[in-house]
Amino acid sequence: MISLRGVTLVYPNGTRALDGVDLEIAKGSFVFLVGHSGTGKSSLLRLLYREQRPSKGTVVVDGIHVDDLKRSRIPALRRNVGVVFQDFKLLLDKTVWENVAFALQVTGARTRDVMRQVPRVLDLVGLAHKSRVFPSELSGGEQQRAAIARALVNNPKILLCDEPTGNLDPVNTNEVMDLLHRINLKGTTVLVATHNAIVVDRMRRRVIRLEHGKIVGDEERGSYNIAPAETGESLGLAR
Ligand code: ADP
Repeated sequence: MISLRGVTLVYPNGTRALDGVDLEIAKGSFVFLVGHSGTGKSSLLRLLYREQRPSKGTVVVDGIHVDDLKRSRIPALRRNVGVVFQDFKLLLDKTVWENVAFALQVTGARTRDVMRQVPRVLDLVGLAHKSRVFPSELSGGEQQRAAIARALVNNPKILLCDEPTGNLDPVNTNEVMDLLHRINLKGTTVLVATHNAIVVDRMRRRVIRLEHGKIVGDEERGSYNIAPAETGESLGLAR
């Protein structure tokens, strides 16, 4: 489903964010990407939805060579790859319904499909009763669930999550992770970059560990296993 071969990413300022990464992720899997801050997790995700191109190597997502994809084909790729961020990135002047509908409308979806798909995903994330509400009226967990609904409305095969629980308290964190688990059980491949040791240790899924842009660990049913002192990050981050 996802394949990286010899992938190196050097940003224009000379930062080597990824260095010779080889990685295979099977269809339908649930994978955590862990590692210190600045170690290349977000950069790796950005390659998968073609926000970045590798400086070297190949990136294949669902059979598509993403690294040399024509610009005109990028929207089709992004319909197959949903993305969720730490800060939700909801449109604040639109309701929950409008935020989710917008992701379909920009693909040229017909009104009939919008009317069918939006309730489907709002129901899935447990927000059907909040569809007319604006993001500012939602809790952090609800905002993230709205963002997940938006990411899923095009029925993507892959869901990429960049620190999805970074702004959430433990209760909302558990709700969001349970939702991602259910989405995975329905067949979507889910890749989660996270600092949250508790989440990783609770779920016991495949854990890929990055350090200085290289893969230094890859375990089925792995654990977080990075001491907070080692990361130099506060205990607060490792909720
Ligand atoms: P992580 O997600 O693990 O925190 P990132 O992928 O965000 O790591 O960053 C990896 C490295 O690349 C860091 O040194 C970061 O400062 C650098 N970096 C990230 N984005 C850019 C960018 N757009 N331009 C230049 N350097 C960047």
